[in-house]
Amino acid sequence: MAGVMGWPVAHSRSPAIHNHWIRQYNLNGAYGLFPVEPGNVETAIRGIRALGLAGCNITIPHKVEAMAYMDWVDPLAKRMGAINTIVVNPDGALHGFNHDGFGYLKSLHEAQPNWRADTGPIVILGAGGAARAIVVCLIDAGATEIRILNRSPDKAKELAAEFDKQVTALDWSERHDALTDAALLINTTNQGMHGQPALDIELTQLPITALVSDAIYVPLETPLLSAARARGNTTVNGLGMLLHQARPAFNAWFGVMPEVSTELRNAIIDTLKN
Ligand code: NAP
Repeated sequence: MAGVMGWPVAHSRSPAIHNHWIRQYNLNGAYGLFPVEPGNVETAIRGIRALGLAGCNITIPHKVEAMAYMDWVDPLAKRMGAINTIVVNPDGALHGFNHDGFGYLKSLHEAQPNWRADTGPIVILGAGGAARAIVVCLIDAGATEIRILNRSPDKAKELAAEFDKQVTALDWSERHDALTDAALLINTTNQGMHGQPALDIELTQLPITALVSDAIYVPLETPLLSAARARGNTTVNGLGMLLHQARPAFNAWFGVMPEVSTELRNAIIDTLKN
């Protein structure tokens, strides 16, 4: 058994994803929702071992705190400063991982199988948890220039300072001009999400060859992606990241590296319509 701990967590699509794979691969298992209030995180995580779970996912707002209760943290997750997966080792030790960056890169390769991180400058809007995971993976994939722009400039500067000089922080007011010569534009802010206003950005200077991606998956096509698609850019929504980040966790818990099939994708898209 496995599940996802978060607060609130009722909206999570993870049970639909993992239970789909449990049925597809004829496994004897289940994946549930664990609403864990802030203040109860340590007790809940200690309970994973006591209950005999294979592990669990960790989501907002516990991704950073949970790391402190691990017996071992994957070096990649350490660099991301957060975990999204706990695996209980056969000896009972709790191991922490972060698969968000893995999921993100897979989603880009799904859209463009020949995509390369060193094609040209990468512009990232936002400097929160998703941005941090994505920057680490882009650097490891060979990115040569990353520009981070965030509404609160200090957070962009702090994030950029953790990396070598291929990562720079620009002022939020420069977001329109920063797109000149970009090969990839990534939105990791919450702007454009269901219930939020559209991201305020002018795409005029963005090359048509640039890939435009949004970490958001509700709605599947944000106003940013719709504007980019209308002018001829290839777009990638956040669903691929969500589906692919789940694969290594499922493999660690249930012993099968699952596929992201059209059937799974459609099943999750159906849940997004509700
Ligand atoms: P987070 O740590 O809370 O960061 C939120 C970011 O949005 C911050 O950079 C914040 O800027 C920015 N922001 C908020 N309001 C804004 C506004 N009015 N104008 C401009 N920027 C604004 O959240 P996160 O975990 O990184 O998640 C960010 C997004 O990625 C969410 O939409 C989430 O759903 C999505 N996500 C998707 C996946 C997936 O699997 N597809 C995984 C993780 C996250 P400030 O620093 O100025 O507040």
